[in-house]
Amino acid sequence: MRAVVISRHGGPDVLELRELPRPAAPGPGQVRVSVRAAGLNHLDLWVRRGHPGLHVDLPFIPGSDLAGVVESVGEGVTRVRAGQSVVAYPALFCHQCAACLAGRQNHCRSYAILGENTSGGLCDEIVLPERNLFPLPEGLSFVQGAAFPLAWLTSWHMLTRKVVLQPGDWVLIQAAASGTGVAALQIARLFGARVIATAGSDEKCRRLLELGAEHVVDHRSGELRARVKAVTDGRGCTVVLDHLGAETFSLSLGCLAREGRYLTCGGTTGPELHFDVRHLFIKHQRIIGSTMGDVGDFQTLLAHMGPPPAAGAALRGLWPVVHQEFSLSQVSQAHAELESRQVIGKVVVKLEL
Ligand SMILES: [Zn+2]
Repeated sequence: MRAVVISRHGGPDVLELRELPRPAAPGPGQVRVSVRAAGLNHLDLWVRRGHPGLHVDLPFIPGSDLAGVVESVGEGVTRVRAGQSVVAYPALFCHQCAACLAGRQNHCRSYAILGENTSGGLCDEIVLPERNLFPLPEGLSFVQGAAFPLAWLTSWHMLTRKVVLQPGDWVLIQAAASGTGVAALQIARLFGARVIATAGSDEKCRRLLELGAEHVVDHRSGELRARVKAVTDGRGCTVVLDHLGAETFSLSLGCLAREGRYLTCGGTTGPELHFDVRHLFIKHQRIIGSTMGDVGDFQTLLAHMGPPPAAGAALRGLWPVVHQEFSLSQVSQAHAELESRQVIGKVVVKLEL
């Protein structure tokens, strides 16, 4: 089978397309999936570049998000059948520990994200546990199916479990054109919250307004705090979602209302945050960390997920936003596109048969 392999860390040129043996036939409770599309995440850039604290056993197949067709099933598999179109929950978990038994799989000590902690989906075939696979939502192509799992799951867990959004909440989403940003924008709208989004280009700002943001601020303008104050009657945003970390943290906190909640699922511009703790306690604010989401979150997300609305139609439910698709032989270009910071939504690699 064809597989994208990283045998050393570095730039997009370290991604090699190789011929590898097919994975072994699925054992009891396992399923072999013929992958038709694999979505990229910012995580793929970390895995490719390498960074302290991340251990990747090289050579390694990256790719967290995948959609495909069930090729064969192992003994005892009942939830999916050969020929069925599926999408994968993007991490493995032990299914036995207290966290897993309580349905909190993203707290499992053995939690392993596909394409980061365990071999991923940028290949023709992958064997996964039956419990990781779910029917591809009606009306979605494989490319669309591979364009949402990790990012939408992460934002769903933050905005429905770590906080419970209420109609009338003002949500500030930093870097809202990113995968988790676009997902958060849709989820906030679903719950009747109002969104102020930031982005770094006119094109991104235009698309975010189309996708339902009420206000968009170009982060290069230096006007974010003033705009947030003006829009929220001086109160600030009740929820701030910011995965950028160091570069935007103090500005984000400055936009947060009394009793506001700052949510983080990443630190793409740097991991260390500095702030004046007096503002935090005087305003009764909370800083909340979150990563991924559990299987229940994923199932609920799938129930809301459908094809994109037709041009000019009302925005309803959730849908994947595909920026661009690439073929498997163009995977280095796909990474370069993701690194260009021009992306709105998701970059997806399509695996032609
Ligand atoms: Zn577990």
